[in-house]
Amino acid sequence: MIPKPHRCHCGDSVDTYGHHGLSCSTSAGRFSRHSTINDIIRRSLATAHVPAVLEPNGLARSDGKRPDGVTLIPWRLGTSLLWDVTCVDTLAASHIQATTSMVGAAATSAEQAKRRKYENLDSSFIFCLLE
Ligand SMILES: [Zn+2]
Repeated sequence: MIPKPHRCHCGDSVDTYGHHGLSCSTSAGRFSRHSTINDIIRRSLATAHVPAVLEPNGLARSDGKRPDGVTLIPWRLGTSLLWDVTCVDTLAASHIQATTSMVGAAATSAEQAKRRKYENLDSSFIFCLLE
């Protein structure tokens, strides 16, 4: 089904390509994609007999939010693996100028922002960002 251009309830316009839903701040799909990816990671680790928890209590990055997950046993060199998932929309208005001139620009920008948020936890964990 091809969507008809209309105004989203967030106030932005939606075109016939329907890309707005990927980055809409009120889209429920963003949260389900994010939690589905995290659940796949946690279940994959469990299959490999590595217990892990999602949104662990007691760990906070620089903005006060919790990471998406952490292994409960050491991953490497006695250090647990900490991960965070980011779903970037390369067509979002905030990224479109950079992504039209450089492949991976949105992912690079998101990675840099996440690494800054995890600077306070970086030395205690192996940090893995998934985009
Ligand atoms: Zn919207």
